[in-house]
Amino acid sequence: MQAEKKDIKSLLPEEVSSVLADLGEPAFRAKQVYKWLRGPIGSFEDMKNIPKALRERLGEEYYIYTPRVLRKQVSGLDGTTKYLWELRDGNAVETVIMRYKHGNTVCVSSQVGCRMGCAFCASTIGGKVRNLTASEILDQVMYSERDSGLPISNIVMMGIGEPLDNYDNVLRFLRLVNDPEGMNIGMRHISLSTCGLTDGIDRLGENDLQLTLSVSLHAPDDVTRNKIMPVNRSCGVEKLMDTCRRYFDRTGRRISFEYAMIDGVNDSRAHAQRLAALLRGTGSHVNLIPLNQVEESPLKPSKPENLRAFMAVLEENGINVTVRRKLGPDISASCGQLRRKRELEKSSENVE
Ligand code: SAH
Repeated sequence: MQAEKKDIKSLLPEEVSSVLADLGEPAFRAKQVYKWLRGPIGSFEDMKNIPKALRERLGEEYYIYTPRVLRKQVSGLDGTTKYLWELRDGNAVETVIMRYKHGNTVCVSSQVGCRMGCAFCASTIGGKVRNLTASEILDQVMYSERDSGLPISNIVMMGIGEPLDNYDNVLRFLRLVNDPEGMNIGMRHISLSTCGLTDGIDRLGENDLQLTLSVSLHAPDDVTRNKIMPVNRSCGVEKLMDTCRRYFDRTGRRISFEYAMIDGVNDSRAHAQRLAALLRGTGSHVNLIPLNQVEESPLKPSKPENLRAFMAVLEENGINVTVRRKLGPDISASCGQLRRKRELEKSSENVE
């Protein structure tokens, strides 16, 4: 049986060098091949300055895939652009470009689906299908930029999936996107959002990267958090906060906390006071997110007056707080919803 081909675009520069050295090629060839891999090539044949025999030899062992646009939606209100990409095995993931005054930010997915089971999130409904490779994450940045013509200056890993549940590929992606030979996007322009996998946060801390870590807290106590985030049952709020402190001590980077405001679940005055007590003195930032309603879920966004009161309690306690602006409201831009729609359409096609 023929061995399955490997993803050459996910290799790090030193790995490409060693593959080519093993084939008896000089060092400059490795540099040439790597340069092609960071560009928009469709196959090994596109590597014009590489001898045909070597291209064919690489093609026997590796594949090159270019994602295809399945759907594209552009908000008529604010220009938010959303892509659904088809991957090599027919799976699909979403990417969103958000346009801000300071530049364009791309929101990338890290897995096909998610297994974290958060009660309010569309991405987790069908569970996790598989991890994305590093190049599948990188391609979302590169091909969204190329297709839209919008230069990307910032990346948020806040799309479908839990990045720290795909740790090795995500780290590889971060190195590739940061590479001066590639997109050369600085770590300080990258945010990674996690539901709070403490082992992953510790591992990330050891790498001492200058990216911004966002933790999806969504509740200040175990009773509330257990209800909406199953991950909390194996690691409660206290252990999570200890891990966050350790991360800050190692990296010197303040963590930002996300808090989706859900009507009657986590948005009372008492919740706000507990949250303030939890974060007092940490210098952390809280981003309140008005809940995006997911069709399959009974959870509703908080009433505006409750959101305002919640925010006021945090401010009175000296906590740095902002409310996330809703972008692309006309194209249901929150992640997971477009892929979910396609899954539903596919299953109804199968029924007919
Ligand atoms: N797995 C990562 C990234 C997921 S999405 C994480 O959990 O952080 C990025 C953010 O959007 C997370 O804070 C997530 O909890 C939040 N989110 C998911 N569904 C949402 C919804 N329906 N409304 C508002 N925020 C949501």
